[in-house]
Amino acid sequence: MTAFDSFPLGRPAFITNILDRAAHLRGNDEKLLALEGHRDARAYVVHRDSLVVKQDAGGPRALLTIDEALKFGANPGTIFLGLREGGAAVFGMGISAASVEKLLTRDDVAVTELRGMAMQGVVPPEQLSAIAMAKSMVSWHQRHGYCANCGTRTAMKEGGWKRDCPSCKAEHFPRTDPVVIMLVTSGDKCLLGRQKQFPPGMWSCLAGFVEAAETIEDAVRREIFEESGIRCTDVHYYMTQPWPYPSSLMIGCTARATTDDIIVDRTELEDARWFDRAEATLMIKRQHPDGLAGPHPFAIAHHLLGRWLHEGPNAHA
Ligand SMILES: [Zn+2]
Repeated sequence: MTAFDSFPLGRPAFITNILDRAAHLRGNDEKLLALEGHRDARAYVVHRDSLVVKQDAGGPRALLTIDEALKFGANPGTIFLGLREGGAAVFGMGISAASVEKLLTRDDVAVTELRGMAMQGVVPPEQLSAIAMAKSMVSWHQRHGYCANCGTRTAMKEGGWKRDCPSCKAEHFPRTDPVVIMLVTSGDKCLLGRQKQFPPGMWSCLAGFVEAAETIEDAVRREIFEESGIRCTDVHYYMTQPWPYPSSLMIGCTARATTDDIIVDRTELEDARWFDRAEATLMIKRQHPDGLAGPHPFAIAHHLLGRWLHEGPNAHA
């Protein structure tokens, strides 16, 4: 029995990648050109938080041929994401707002927000990680066109995994931002918070960015104290989840509270409070009489909470 069998859960989104990143090919322009020219090459076309999806008779299709992508108005610069089983290449491509406007008039194309796709299963869940890669990478290129060192326009290299400055020779690499997300417990209760932008009634684990020269454990303790006034200890790593908004890595942890009184930082959170195991169970099962709900199953927070509930009250007795 896995930790999640007692709940109708899936796996968290974005954690299973169908692609072999084949990083050894990134510096080989000739090979990348040949892969892109192959009839089996495909692309994910990304605009901000959305993906261009072709509506075929058999259902929506996220993997477009390179020809389709270009005809839809995708920018020609491709980012090499990796190889599918069988060796065909998959690329990420951006598209302008003007081209997206034109696509929205067509019946056979949809431009769909990635979060909604993940929640509603519009594309096969095993593709979400590759789509997340495309989204994070396209977004990085769009925001890093100029050298942070000298301001000169930079050039895409290494299949999109680097930008070089022709003037000062600085090399720029796509970054991933570490975020700690943690379930803090105290005996039979757990600490959850609400951000202002959450849907009504939804509560989730507290989270925050890891800062410069900070350990994961210290980041967990600091964020919990800053947002809720709670001191905690026994920080343990659970699992990670890539989170492409725009390019975070959620580091799931658990911790044990050593104090009880909550002081909410209202600039960060709308509210934070303790929930006992019975109430949290109703929330995660979406059966709470007041309509309170836990985080969505595609998010790591749901799994942190689900595991604690599944383990039962005596797990650490
Ligand atoms: Zn420069």
